[in-house]
Amino acid sequence: MHQFNSILALASILFFTECSQAQNKDTMPEHKNNPYYSRTAKTHLAVTNDEWKKILPKDVFNIARLKGTEYAFTGKYYKTNTKGMYYCAVCGNALFKSDAKFASSCGWPSFFESLEPGSVKYEADNTHGMERTEVLCGRCESHLGHVFDDGPPPTNRRFCMNSAVLEFEPDATK
Ligand code: FE
Repeated sequence: MHQFNSILALASILFFTECSQAQNKDTMPEHKNNPYYSRTAKTHLAVTNDEWKKILPKDVFNIARLKGTEYAFTGKYYKTNTKGMYYCAVCGNALFKSDAKFASSCGWPSFFESLEPGSVKYEADNTHGMERTEVLCGRCESHLGHVFDDGPPPTNRRFCMNSAVLEFEPDATK
């Protein structure tokens, strides 16, 4: 009986090890060249654009590091309404829950709040003759989009984000 319990314990350990490996998204093929990518690390990243340029796909680099904007109604997530989490495509930082996403007519994925206050950072943006508030990733300071005061309750805010710098992970199905 004692031996049986030992085998059971060992099998449990192997099972849970297997599960945790299956859930490790840091080693996804698309991030294999990105040593900074982590779904769990909270350490602030200070990486130069020269370095990011070697790591990131061109469309992600242009928006995240050069503050570009994708064309409205072209991004991969503006119509997505699946339950899950949106992460920074540059560093893996968790940014928005799907529960905070709303159907905006603006053509970009829109959220009424970030996951946590520190998930994102803000900077005044006075370019293009407008006074806007830029939204940056709280971990890697990549440009994500802008936030406006015309969103729905409860916050009345609209985080207008670029799909290219987001990475959606659907909730696990049971
Ligand atoms: Fe980031």
